[in-house]
Amino acid sequence: MTPSLAAILPASRIRDRLIDRIAYANDASYFRLVPQAVVQPNSIGEIQALFQFSQQNRIPMTFRAAGTSLSGQAVTDGILVDISKHWGDYSVEENAGKIRFQPGIVGGFINNVLKPHGRRIGPDPASIDACMMGGILANNSSGMCCGTTENSYKTIHSMTFVLPNGFVLDTSRPDAHKIFENEQPHIAKGLLELKQRILNSNAKYKDETLAEKIRRRYQMKNNNGYLLNAFLDFEHPLDILIHLLIGSEGTLGFIAEGVLHTLPDYTYKYTGQMYFKNIRDAAAAVYPIKQSGARAVEVMDRESLRSVEHLPGVPAILKELPAGATAILAEYQASDSETMLQFKKEAGRVIHELKLIHDVNFTDDPIQQAALWKPRKGIIASVGAMRPRGTTSVNEDVAFPVQHLADAVTDLRHLFDDFGYTEGVIFGHAKDGNLHFLVNQAFDTPEQIQFFDKFLREMVGIVSGKYDGSLKAEHGTGRNMAPFVETEWGAEAYAIMRDLKSLLDPDGMLNPGVLINDNPQAHVTH
Ligand SMILES: Cc1cc2nc3c(=O)[nH]c(=O)nc-3n(C[C@H](O)[C@H](O)[C@H](O)COP(=O)(O)OP(=O)(O)OC[C@H]3O[C@@H](n4cnc5c(N)ncnc54)[C@H](O)[C@@H]3O)c2cc1C
Repeated sequence: MTPSLAAILPASRIRDRLIDRIAYANDASYFRLVPQAVVQPNSIGEIQALFQFSQQNRIPMTFRAAGTSLSGQAVTDGILVDISKHWGDYSVEENAGKIRFQPGIVGGFINNVLKPHGRRIGPDPASIDACMMGGILANNSSGMCCGTTENSYKTIHSMTFVLPNGFVLDTSRPDAHKIFENEQPHIAKGLLELKQRILNSNAKYKDETLAEKIRRRYQMKNNNGYLLNAFLDFEHPLDILIHLLIGSEGTLGFIAEGVLHTLPDYTYKYTGQMYFKNIRDAAAAVYPIKQSGARAVEVMDRESLRSVEHLPGVPAILKELPAGATAILAEYQASDSETMLQFKKEAGRVIHELKLIHDVNFTDDPIQQAALWKPRKGIIASVGAMRPRGTTSVNEDVAFPVQHLADAVTDLRHLFDDFGYTEGVIFGHAKDGNLHFLVNQAFDTPEQIQFFDKFLREMVGIVSGKYDGSLKAEHGTGRNMAPFVETEWGAEAYAIMRDLKSLLDPDGMLNPGVLINDNPQAHVTH
């Protein structure tokens, strides 16, 4: 294969030694696929040529930014297109009201560029100091404070994209809409037809039309499947497409440049950690804390806290907490002292009413705040580091309507017990009903794989079947949840997603198996 790739890129940017291919065989998920070659293009022309190469030779192609994805969407046994070495330009625009960037820049770097202007980007994944803008947009990542209103879907201004057919467009051009209609009439028409299918659907799901169901489900964080709300939120096919490329996990096209609206970087912060007797009491406290104006409400169960209690600088009380105790880390943020004063009053009033097992001290000291955030940010790495040899940490990411959080989290904990995942941890962005959990699982024997398959299916039954939650809230569908997109969304919505994929990528060579996958066992394959 390398000789023909050599017609596209210089040898110094093609890596096909076994050692390189193995080094790129994993993202941060539990999947492993060894690419045939890793290429490092540095121009749109090279991306177009790679699309052509992949389609002509029927070799799949997958983009990789930082590779911190947790659902298996950044691995391939075809060509892995590594964009982390180039694609690093950026510019601050309109008094930092907007930021323009190429996709190979780390998110935390962009925030550092914006900081002196008192601005930041909306998405705030815990991985922001490692992950890159291409991955943040393509996964529609969110995070601690970023719920459904500050993610890339909501804050994207424009982008330059490259479609699998080679068409390139900078959507910030004043004539972009006309160009798209004129030069891509088939795709423009196809997108409008998919929109009409949603609007015309009369089938009822639990008394809702498809359009009503889509609107309701995106009030929760939801990254399972394509972002179907784009069909309802926008009229022009180009605007629909821009918002579908967000969260498409590199399966519809390449994002060569993005422009995001920025948000205020709040300077006043007030942070505290509260301890509850059990996870049910903690879950019940989430709604009032959220209503009092907290921007972050992070929940950590006893096992999560245990995984980080040894870290230097974390609150000493962690080691003394009784079994079952659960913490909530809450943070209020404001751009001025008067607003912060109001938040402090509200916080005091609400916290007074909570059933806590320990006194709580809120702080506006950045050093103490960092000490409080340290355990929360360290959970994934700590659990991963402590896992038994030969096992893999599996990180799931679900969301429930907040009113069901207490019941749902109790059911999940029982599920862990039933499957003997005693070290399993539950934590997450409770303000948005978004929970992560980690279990350590070996995948060496058919029995171990079957065991995990059974566990995952039961989890899907609880999250989707019992509570009508999202099976992926922010980490992306990947291969891990692809077999269950239809379970969550139903046949009609899933058919629309499939037709969308065929419309943009008729050859099916762009990141196949991610998000749409015909293999009902895709979550335990590779
Ligand atoms: C410790 C840890 C904590 C995390 N915390 C969070 C969190 O709090 N919130 C959250 O939402 N996520 C979180 N994640 C998940 C992950 O970090 C994010 O999804 C991140 O945005 C992925 O970025 P990346 O650069 O690593 O992308 P990659 O993993 O390299 O790629 C992600 C997807 O985007 C596609 N892609 C990349 N670049 C482009 C492009 N230019 N055009 C088209 N497609 C492209 C890839 O093909 C792939 O499908 C966490 C992960 C880890 C390991």
